[in-house]
Amino acid sequence: MKAGVKPANRVSVAPVRADETETRLRRDGFAVVRSADTVTFPGREPSTILYVAPSEEYARTLAAAEVPLLPSSGKLPLDEEIALHLRFGELLGFPKCCVEEFCNRLRRGITCRIDGGYADEDFVAAECAARASQHFLGRLNDLSPDRRARLVTFYPCRYDCPSAGNYAAAVFTAAAKMDAGAAAALRDALLGAMYIAVDGTRGGAASSMPDVLRVEFDSF
Ligand SMILES: [Zn+2]
Repeated sequence: MKAGVKPANRVSVAPVRADETETRLRRDGFAVVRSADTVTFPGREPSTILYVAPSEEYARTLAAAEVPLLPSSGKLPLDEEIALHLRFGELLGFPKCCVEEFCNRLRRGITCRIDGGYADEDFVAAECAARASQHFLGRLNDLSPDRRARLVTFYPCRYDCPSAGNYAAAVFTAAAKMDAGAAAALRDALLGAMYIAVDGTRGGAASSMPDVLRVEFDSF
């Protein structure tokens, strides 16, 4: 956001860290709106969501755009849900192709694999992205065992998506200007072979798991 790459941001933090994170963001000059309650998405730890934008109005618009999509709001008709996701993705400045691909999976069933069968949402997204890719860019890696180690906070439609790639490159350049050492460490962490199991488990347990996707991120 500081570099003008992202119009706004959605930051999900452990509730105990919400105060300090909000203070830091406000000190950086951003407007912050908090989710009304602690939010628990299936399979995730409870969190507080901070909607961050240059203006109070944008932050409020962003927060309001996600309210109907939160688990506490209940199930919506699919077409309505998809329209809301497209709008929310647009407010966050995510590439249209990646948001549309997310909506395709939503239509099929977010935990439904291409060939049928159940898998964790992250696995399904990675399987679709990997199948469509010819190159595997580390800057689009969303499979690191440490979920915070990433440059993109959306599911890339492919691991060589040009729009997502440009976005991630701009984010990385901005990060490197602020802290070159941390950016270099992040770059290293995003390169190499990543594993995700059908249950969403990540990391090196590859050989002992029956159904594991391996993605080799060989360039940045
Ligand atoms: Zn894309």
